[in-house]
Amino acid sequence: MSVATFEGSYLGAQDKISPLAIMECKVCWTPYDPAEGDDIRQIDPGTPFTALPDDWTCPTCSAPAEQFMVLEDPGAEAMQEAKRVEAVTAKLVDEFNEIWHSKMRDVPLVNKALRIEAIGFQAWNGQILGVLVSPWFMNLILLPDGEEWDLVTGAKEHIAFPSGEYEFIHNTRDTIGGYKACSLFSPMHDFTRQKDATDVARAVMGALFDEANKAETDRAADIRQAREAELAAQEAAEADAAKADEDDVPVLDAKPTRRAFLTAGMADAPVTETPLDAAE
Ligand code: FE
Repeated sequence: MSVATFEGSYLGAQDKISPLAIMECKVCWTPYDPAEGDDIRQIDPGTPFTALPDDWTCPTCSAPAEQFMVLEDPGAEAMQEAKRVEAVTAKLVDEFNEIWHSKMRDVPLVNKALRIEAIGFQAWNGQILGVLVSPWFMNLILLPDGEEWDLVTGAKEHIAFPSGEYEFIHNTRDTIGGYKACSLFSPMHDFTRQKDATDVARAVMGALFDEANKAETDRAADIRQAREAELAAQEAAEADAAKADEDDVPVLDAKPTRRAFLTAGMADAPVTETPLDAAE
């Protein structure tokens, strides 16, 4: 038999099927569904095919587990995604570990109680998103989920999340190529332990996707927008009615406020950039 004949077969390749995979005996077509388990061999419902005992065989024809092939695998995509995220995140951590050890260790602004750690990295919107903690910064990081990004270092981009819009700076590194970073904290002197920093990083990932935060983060922007809109309306009334369409509200100034909200109260010190309108 050629190798191609075995396409889709299990053949003991446990890392290729997810815990949700429904398998089927190649000899007699008896399925194994993890949701049901196997009454005959007293396998509890919820047992993945890969977690079956070594001596488990087809309940109908006693063919060994290796003779089963994938009938349907609802978890395959999620598993592949998790592997991609893991690979990209590992590269990011390697890159910054290299920078840390080769260039940053003796720089006065670093916090030597901390180390490079990737927190909460996950697939998001066709990209990979997470927080990178380091001895000298904590950034939200966006990486490509697939082909490398060709980015211009220093370029700014505003990216929308359920909690609001945040400013990311484009950057490029040798091994990971282009990536986008939104500064949360820098320097990192207010964190005394790694766990304090990683707790904040996890909280940021939660706050980022919390739509309830949007009302708060938008308040300052809304006030500004209202003012701008009023001015634009006045101008429009005074001059040309057609100009009313151009009241493109400059929300850019409000961005630092949103970012500050994301990290507000999460560390003892404020973020480096003080919000323009934070003064009481
Ligand atoms: Fe069978």
